[in-house]
Amino acid sequence: MKYEKYKLLISLSFMENPIKYYSTNLKAEQVSFRQALLKGIAPDKGLYMPEYIPQISAEEIASYSNMEYHEIAYHVAHKFLWSEIGDEELKALVKDAYQFEVPLEKVHNNQYVMRLDHGPTASFKDFAARMMGRLMQYYLKLENRKLLILTATSGDTGSAIANAFYGLDNIKVLILFPEKEVTNRQRKQMTTLGKNIQIIALDGKFDHCQALVKQAFADSDLDHLNLSSANSINIGRLIPQIVYYFYSFAKLRAGKPDDKVIFSVPSGNFGDMMGGMLAMKMGLPIEKFVISTNENDEFPVLLETGEYHKIEPSKNCISSAMNVGHPSNLSRLLALYDGVMDEQGNITKAPDMELMRKEVYAASVTDVETRDTIRHAWESHNLLLEPHGAVGWFGLQKYLTQNKGKHTDDTLCISLETAHPAKFPEEINQLLNFDPNLPPSLQGLEGKKEIFDSMPHDYKAFKKYLMTNFASFA
Ligand SMILES: *Cc1c(COP(=O)(O)O)cnc(C)c1O
Repeated sequence: MKYEKYKLLISLSFMENPIKYYSTNLKAEQVSFRQALLKGIAPDKGLYMPEYIPQISAEEIASYSNMEYHEIAYHVAHKFLWSEIGDEELKALVKDAYQFEVPLEKVHNNQYVMRLDHGPTASFKDFAARMMGRLMQYYLKLENRKLLILTATSGDTGSAIANAFYGLDNIKVLILFPEKEVTNRQRKQMTTLGKNIQIIALDGKFDHCQALVKQAFADSDLDHLNLSSANSINIGRLIPQIVYYFYSFAKLRAGKPDDKVIFSVPSGNFGDMMGGMLAMKMGLPIEKFVISTNENDEFPVLLETGEYHKIEPSKNCISSAMNVGHPSNLSRLLALYDGVMDEQGNITKAPDMELMRKEVYAASVTDVETRDTIRHAWESHNLLLEPHGAVGWFGLQKYLTQNKGKHTDDTLCISLETAHPAKFPEEINQLLNFDPNLPPSLQGLEGKKEIFDSMPHDYKAFKKYLMTNFASFA
């Protein structure tokens, strides 16, 4: 799949064809967006990728500077979805999904932090989950069918999915969380909703939750329940994550034709980063893309050596949502550079490493560096970061320090903050001696009533639960 060649073809052809989605394992049939969205993973266990990447011109990007976030979301998503959903429906859908602020905080020189933490669960996962849920609802209504979303969570994904799908028609959500591994606040974000959201506290670890979910998906006795997952590999989560890269550049650029930007993204499963890489391939003038990981440095090592080794088990760092030893979206990044990586992490076709190194920089950040960054950012710049955002900010500073000759103080740099500091009160308090203010979305949880079921980590019990609770739904 030569993306450069496709780009040329597209710019030459007047009529565009609807975009099909191929599997990164290259052994499954191409499908439409709707099919890819409702399926999640391809039958050959690969991830769906667009067969060609639509382009956004410099003039179009310039026009975004006067638009609201949801309007930019419409324009960017329309490039992929024009053949899949009506214009008015798409406009209404993104307007409904994005009713919160996306602050761009100036730190110093031309360096900014983009806060993606103002959504209803105060993590950047809200951006993807809210649009994906609404797209699913749209197609399910058209097809007059129902879906049961089954998700295992170690904390943040569960609450983002639960909130995003709350009250949607034709969809029920069942979330499993490890009883002793989530914070009280994380649990309450899931268990106080009700309606179409059902929660199970499992007497076990996150891995047990994940294993039960996987076994249910593979169990043909449960086919009639129309199970689907909402995890980070769904193409429906990727497209919404392209938007904020265009948004931030359009709002912050100086307006000169040769403006460029450096992004830094704290990364775990590499979904957020893939949104940015797709933005770059669509025409956003990104000078360098900094991928910042914690001590799980399998990607920085790959970029340097060309060799890939998963980290098993993954290392526990304070940026806990990024403790990933084998990023599930990595095969998509390699596909962008004409390489093939299977779901186990074997590279069966080498990517163009030279081009990748030209466009991408990778930094692995230790916990010591992360904590120092939180302290230093606050003391020097009045910038309040939590551990994930601090990894991104440190990665950016490392790149700038190592490449002094290549940019000036005027170079626009944007680092992503992916969670609200109030989600990490203990860490912040230890480092800075104060408690971060709760954003409105996290206030008032204490007094709300919790409803959830408890269960041992036993597949038979889980299957019975599914059969009895959801028999009449599907
Ligand atoms: C999920 C998450 C990440 C990692 O995002 P990926 O798309 O998996 O790379 C970073 N920060 C926070 C707060 C998260 O919840």
